[in-house]
This record gives sequence, structure tokens and C-alpha cells, in this order.
Amino acid sequence: MGRDPRELPLAMKSLELWKGINARIGRETGFRTRGTFYICPDEASYKKRQAWLPHARSAGLDCSLLDGEAAKAVLPGATANWRGGLHTPGDGVAEPQMAAPAIAEAARQRGATIMTNCAVRALDTRGGKILGVETERGPISCGAVVVAGGDPGILIGQ
Ligand SMILES: Cc1cc2nc3c(=O)[nH]c(=O)nc-3n(C[C@H](O)[C@H](O)[C@H](O)COP(=O)(O)OP(=O)(O)OC[C@H]3O[C@@H](n4cnc5c(N)ncnc54)[C@H](O)[C@@H]3O)c2cc1C
Repeated sequence: MGRDPRELPLAMKSLELWKGINARIGRETGFRTRGTFYICPDEASYKKRQAWLPHARSAGLDCSLLDGEAAKAVLPGATANWRGGLHTPGDGVAEPQMAAPAIAEAARQRGATIMTNCAVRALDTRGGKILGVETERGPISCGAVVVAGGDPGILIGQ
């Protein structure tokens, strides 16, 4: 939260999917709705979060900016004197070490083949259609490719 407002609809959709993922795949990903709290130690950081809040409101996100004592109540035992904090009670976290294998196993069970340590080097396209990918272990024919290589700086062909 507190990020580029254009990311909000995607972030909210993602959260909705994560909330149902354990039931959907029948495995434990460690996902829990625990809320998130962005601490604002000073006035400048508080104002920055305050300026972002209308974006959250217009997207329908349950998010509020808490002042000093109210902020401390979210984190019992905290002793620092913050200006406040941005609280999103419906936000959540997963455990990557649990989630990645659980999702991979569920995909395998549904017929997916997962190859690790195998880079895609090129896309095979002809006549405006995708025909497959060229991997470091040879070609794979397919009718669709999802490019999910992370940082755009390391995408295929660059
Ligand atoms: C330090 C740090 C902390 C973060 N903390 C959080 C957090 O607390 N909460 C949160 O929600 N997000 C966090 N993020 C962001 C989150 O990790 C990313 O948004 C997320 O991992 C992106 O997932 P992805 O599947 O798009 O890409 P990635 O996880 O980057 O996966 C891309 C994969 O594609 C592979 N790949 C690349 N090129 C090829 C190729 N040619 N052939 C085959 N494979 C290829 C890569 O090896 C990689 O395994 C953090 C990120 C960082 C760096």
C-alpha cells in the first residue's frame, strides 16, 4: 500500500485471489490476513501517506491513517513516538518458502510440467502466431506463452 495508485486494482484483485488460495489448491501457502501497517515516524512521511489516501478510498480499499496513540494500539508494546501510520486491516502475507512449492505441486497435480533451471532463449513466432519457445534444453511447441520473467531488464531478447 502507499504505492503507485495505478497498481491498486491489480493489488486488490491479487489479494482477493490469495485469500482463497489455500482452499483452491488444497495446500498451505502460509497466507494469512494479518493487515499491514506502514509506520510514519515523522510529519513528512505522514503527509506522504495522507496524500495517497484518497486513491485508496476511490478504489474502495479499507485503509486509514492513524495518529500517534491509535497507531500504537495497532502494535501493542511499541514504545516509539511515531507521528502515525497507514493501516490496511484486510491486507495479508504469505510464506514464499511454503507458497511456491505448494502452488507448483498443485499445478503438477493438474497436469502441468514444471522445468527448473531451464532458460527460455527465444520465442518461435511465425505469421504473427506463437508456435513455441526455444529453451536451453531444446524447443517446446505451444500455442500460448506467458512472459513472467520478472524484472523487464532481464526479459527474453534483451
Ligand atoms: C528484496 C525484495 C523484497 C520484497 N518484498 C515483498 C513483500 O514483502 N511483499 C510483496 O508482495 N512483494 C515483495 N517483493 C516483490 C515481489 O518479490 C515481486 O513482486 C514478485 O516476486 C514478482 O513475481 P514475478 O513472478 O512477477 O517475478 P519473479 O519472482 O522475479 O520471477 C521471475 C522468474 O522468471 C525467471 N526467468 C527470468 N528470465 C527467464 C527466462 N528467460 N527463462 C526462464 N525463466 C526466466 C527468473 O529466474 C525468476 O525465477 C519484494 C521484492 C524484493 C526484491
